Amino acid sequence: MQGSSEQGGFYKLSMTERVKLLQKLTGLSEEEVKTLRQTGGLPEEVADRMIENVVGGFTLPLGMAMNFLINGKDYIVPMALEEPSVVAGASYAAKIARAKGGIKVTNTGPVMIGQVQAVGIKDPKAAKAKLVSRREDILAKANAQDPLLVSLGGGAKDLNVKVIDSIKGPMVITELFVNCGDAMGANAVNTMAEAVAPLVEEITGGTVLLRIISNLADKRLVRATAVFDKEAMGGAEVVDGVVQAYAFADADPYRCATHNKGIMNGVVAVGIACGQDIRALEAGAHSYASRSGKYKPLTKWEKNKDGDLVGTLEMPMAVGLVGGAAKVHPAAKANVKILGVRTATELAEVMGAVGLIQNLAALRALASEGIQKGHMKLHARNIAASVGATGKQIDVIANQLIAEKKIRMDRAKEILDSMKA
Ligand code: NAD
Repeated sequence: MQGSSEQGGFYKLSMTERVKLLQKLTGLSEEEVKTLRQTGGLPEEVADRMIENVVGGFTLPLGMAMNFLINGKDYIVPMALEEPSVVAGASYAAKIARAKGGIKVTNTGPVMIGQVQAVGIKDPKAAKAKLVSRREDILAKANAQDPLLVSLGGGAKDLNVKVIDSIKGPMVITELFVNCGDAMGANAVNTMAEAVAPLVEEITGGTVLLRIISNLADKRLVRATAVFDKEAMGGAEVVDGVVQAYAFADADPYRCATHNKGIMNGVVAVGIACGQDIRALEAGAHSYASRSGKYKPLTKWEKNKDGDLVGTLEMPMAVGLVGGAAKVHPAAKANVKILGVRTATELAEVMGAVGLIQNLAALRALASEGIQKGHMKLHARNIAASVGATGKQIDVIANQLIAEKKIRMDRAKEILDSMKA
């Protein structure tokens, strides 16, 4: 850092001015500036509107997972991520599932929860009763904010009021259940929660503080299931291995975190490719996994009477096709077109299917040859590139690292140096 980060008017500058200032402050080279300025198909002016203090773009590799058959329909699945083996694993496992009819997915509808926190209430139980009795008024006030959503069959459909104990005493929480249609719904729900706040204060005599969506989207679930033929899995031992791996995750949060991370490898990669709020997806997934008070797997693996493996996944999937980046990012729009989904719930179902398949890909590898074999093959190329190999050098070095079973940077550097010499 060659200057102060206290730059009050940074947001007022144009992108070019910001980059110039950044270069002065940090000593970025012209080449580095050029790299950052590339927005990977996202027009600069769109990028500049999406977030604040924009100086450029950040591109991830975009891969297509093949072989997906979901609810009888074929899908090519775009995945944007940096991790090797994920796209290959998804394609491989989707092919196994295809032989037994593919993945079947259902959903609970696109309902999100908006929370209104009221404090300073003398008789919280009485306040709760009053709020429940004014249900229609509260829902009407919420729905008045979004006539378009209501006209499409969505809107605030129901209400839940709960009294919770907190370290600051009891609080009365009013929850709006909003059918968000094809929207992820955070803006829509937040607007409704804010709008009903004065009414909640009037009814309860309390003070409303937070008015915000909950990312524990347990009224917007997807359930995916698939059968994996035992021979295609590599035999009964591998099937048993996957069931044992699931039992491990079910019993131990340290394993379970990685089990669920493997699911999110797929869910998040499709989410990024299709312009979704992946922080919301992660928050929903992990809070749902913890809903019993213990952190649990989002999938379940068992053996059926034929000895085949049966997997099921259940998790929240708050995604949208209108609003957010899905509507403004040209690459996201192209990816949604590739995927061919017509509604947000169809997108949610596909992402649930990918989560299940991705989990199987990782568990199958873990239960058979171990994850590193496939992973490190792809990784070897990255390692070769990271020590400065270019063009054909990358494959030559990667192959040698694999042959020597030394997929390490120091060895890659040695080979590169010897090639140069
Ligand atoms: P939005 O407000 O841009 O779009 C939703 C609106 O689109 C609806 O209110 C409706 O009026 C309209 N609409 C048109 N056609 C529709 C259809 N077929 N179905 C449903 N609505 C239709 O976006 P949003 O989905 O309300 O909000 C999503 C954004 O909010 C994301 O970018 C997310 O990152 C952001 N966000 C998230 C959180 C959170 O998750 N905690 C909090 C704040 C903001």
